[in-house]
Amino acid sequence: MKKRLSTKITMIIVCLLIIVISMMIFMSYTISKTFYKNNLTEDVSHRIIAHTRVIQEHFELETIQHVLTMEEKDDVHLVLFDVDLSTVVKSNHVQDEWMVTYYDWVNEQLQTYNDYPIIDYFNTGIDFHIPHIWALQPIIVNDEIKGYLFIDQDTGQFEQTKVKLAVVLIIMGILTFTIGFLMTIYLTRKISKPLTEMGRAANQIAKGDFDNTPSITGEDEVGQLASDISLMAKQLKEYRDSRQQFISHISHDLRTPITYIKGYSAIMRDTDDIDRKDLDRNLAVIYQEATRMEHLVRDLFQLTKLEEGRVSLELETIKAVPWLYSILESRQLMFDQNSLTYEIIANDDMELTVDQHRMGQAVINLIENSIRYTVKGGKVTLKLSENDHHTIIEISDTGRGIPRDDLPHIWDRFYRVDKSRSSKSGGSGLGLAIVKQVIELHQGDVKVESVEGKGTTFFIYLLKR
Ligand code: ADP
Repeated sequence: MKKRLSTKITMIIVCLLIIVISMMIFMSYTISKTFYKNNLTEDVSHRIIAHTRVIQEHFELETIQHVLTMEEKDDVHLVLFDVDLSTVVKSNHVQDEWMVTYYDWVNEQLQTYNDYPIIDYFNTGIDFHIPHIWALQPIIVNDEIKGYLFIDQDTGQFEQTKVKLAVVLIIMGILTFTIGFLMTIYLTRKISKPLTEMGRAANQIAKGDFDNTPSITGEDEVGQLASDISLMAKQLKEYRDSRQQFISHISHDLRTPITYIKGYSAIMRDTDDIDRKDLDRNLAVIYQEATRMEHLVRDLFQLTKLEEGRVSLELETIKAVPWLYSILESRQLMFDQNSLTYEIIANDDMELTVDQHRMGQAVINLIENSIRYTVKGGKVTLKLSENDHHTIIEISDTGRGIPRDDLPHIWDRFYRVDKSRSSKSGGSGLGLAIVKQVIELHQGDVKVESVEGKGTTFFIYLLKR
């Protein structure tokens, strides 16, 4: 059986309470017992000295009787011995067997002690019972010992107080325990209830139900944890949705070329007498669709690597103008096919610190987009400029531009302004997503400005290093 957190905490606190309360009761009892014993000892010591003084001053039977009357209490035994330790007077209720014990003790003390008053304790043999206090003081008249005054002080009074004290301490202990116990149960429930709810929510999230988030609010750690779980559920939901969308896009974009390739190859297989012209056209379509699939797979692979952070940059400082020319020239055929021109506006000595291969791929994607979305006779311009912190590469075209509403989305994977042109345009729909990843990996930034019907400009901001 699972042990609940509240049960565990309650058990620990109950044990602690029992230990602390028992220690408190024991210490209170011990302290009061010691205090009472010391007090009584002092009292007995004062009394015996006072009585002895009075008797010494008036060494007569009357004075002794007077002292005896003063000490005639149930818990006090007073005995006056003469020098030979014979009893002169004693309290009324002193029994004979006690007298024997007193005599032996006094005798023994006189052999060993000479510091008066002699104070000793007689253990009653009962646990936790304060021993009797025995005191002895000599009566000295004219420098001659006339006898010994002996007091046996019973501590019975404390026994009654002790019971009362114990009752008070036990009541206090039970009260403290009950309050502590109830508080613990209340507090542990208060803590464990939201934890249980969060556990249930986490379980639901693990099963794929991302809407069942914990309803706990608050500024404390528990509230923070609940909001973290809600955030995690939201992100997981977004991740699941985007993954589903991603897969549906890939399958759609792969299905189209595969359908073409299958269809055209089937025609060629099933036609016995195909003429050269048809054959060339069919093969051209198959080649074009296979190339599109190749690009899609290449871009997918590249983007996945970038998004997973598995790409490390090899930065080097290069002359910007020759590098940009070499990129443009690599796309000369595309420019020619679309009857487009290009131009670079930059100082010859400008430099860039980039990973040539990765940044080259980003710039190529932007240039290819410019070519793809610009009608014949248009122009693509690459401009380099600088501000305090950045080198800025502008890639602008005189193409059809991007509608304002689409601008924030063009960086999303598979987002296309013209949804129906997906395969005709030749792009994978991943180009700008790759551009953004590459530039962010360089700790740079990319922005776009576009006017429909006039053209588009992409700005790449690269930190000067
Ligand atoms: P694609 O492979 O479709 O070009 P991209 O991610 O490169 O995918 O671009 C996303 C969309 O942004 C494109 O489908 C296109 O509609 C739009 N776009 C990108 N560059 C330009 C541009 N220079 N001129 C006009 N539209 C553009």
